[in-house]
Amino acid sequence: MWTRVLEAIGAEVPLTPTHKVPIDLDLERPMEPAAALELVLEGLRDGQVHPTHPRYFGLLNPAPTELAVMADALVAAFNPQLATHTHAQWAVDVEAHLLRAFGRKFGFAECEGTFTSGGAEANTTALLVALHERYPEVRTEGVRPGPTIYASAEAHPTVARAARIAGLGERAVRIIPADASLRMKTRELAEAVARDPEPLMIVATAGTTSAGTIDPLPAIAAVAARAGCFLHVDAAWGGLAALVPELGLPGIERADSITFDPHKALSAPMGAGMFLTRHVGALGRTFADHAGYMPRDAAHDPYAHSMQWSRRFIGLKVLLPLLVLGFPGYAAVLREQLALADELRARLRDDGWTIVNDTPLPVVCFTDGRSDLGSVARAVAHEAWISVTKLSTGARALRACIINHKTTSADVAALVAALRSARDR
Ligand SMILES: *Cc1c(COP(=O)(O)O)cnc(C)c1O
Repeated sequence: MWTRVLEAIGAEVPLTPTHKVPIDLDLERPMEPAAALELVLEGLRDGQVHPTHPRYFGLLNPAPTELAVMADALVAAFNPQLATHTHAQWAVDVEAHLLRAFGRKFGFAECEGTFTSGGAEANTTALLVALHERYPEVRTEGVRPGPTIYASAEAHPTVARAARIAGLGERAVRIIPADASLRMKTRELAEAVARDPEPLMIVATAGTTSAGTIDPLPAIAAVAARAGCFLHVDAAWGGLAALVPELGLPGIERADSITFDPHKALSAPMGAGMFLTRHVGALGRTFADHAGYMPRDAAHDPYAHSMQWSRRFIGLKVLLPLLVLGFPGYAAVLREQLALADELRARLRDDGWTIVNDTPLPVVCFTDGRSDLGSVARAVAHEAWISVTKLSTGARALRACIINHKTTSADVAALVAALRSARDR
């Protein structure tokens, strides 16, 4: 069966679903393993959009590197329990090492963190940490209405979700409009925070999901410092800029905490997110509790530092490719994606499209001001997968993201050609 699995992993895949795979699963009647494997392989192959396809210019889902897939399979097989340090010493130390290494890339001289399932968990962790650091009585008394959170109109919806989960309610989230270039309006933020009796946290986005724009981090950090509130930078995808030295994310080092998703920026399979904070000890103050049956090493036990209890070894799928490529290797891959995005912008402009976003990151939002964008995206979907997005300005745009390390210049040319013929029709 392993041979068949490896063959399936290496096989070419269709870009979009070929047919609707039926769900006639009889769970009362045992099946032969080989037949069961074929059944799931058909579903995986034919019943999904494939982010691993080089012409997937889609949402922030990369093609996992082969090494990361091997790492994830090894983790499933060895099944280390990362709740406690004593149970999985090497794995826990590896994750701590990786978190500090990424922290340094973001300019944190000292930090702690936790691997998360993704950005949603990391953003929620950020709010919980900010609440517990600012109001330690939350631990026993729970939250009361009052503390507020600021984010731009282009911020990810998980910020509002975190407020709901934390029991603050969505009304605690103050949405600051974005300017014409889709960055948070810093002056409006400063005025709103100055009027607010209890500003708890500002969430700046480094690489918005739709348009890849980077909020003005230094100016926002100054507002947060003046108000004495937490600054969380959601760099789920855009954190990749910190790994490309000539790009960088100036100002992110002033954040209290950061979200970064290797399963978006670093070609890791889902789910691999990170939460980092320069307040060493804050995670323990937020999450630690003790059960009599757990081996205790409170300073190093991940279960005492995160929302999860039993924990998968998420860090291995980050470590194995990173050992092979090194940070310079990742920077080179990301540089190629940046160059392909520049090429895409130039080709689109030559074809009469208008680029409507302004970002150093490899995502391009564009329109011609007249085509029905949904029909265009559907018309090209078998050639190249792109999405339609609605920006906070109300404008709609086609969105093509270079996220796959296998995408080449020929794929970019094919996308532009497909768009041309879709528009001509
Ligand atoms: C994708 C994304 C998230 C959510 O992260 P998941 O890994 O999908 O949970 C949060 N913030 C931003 C800016 C994102 O792009």
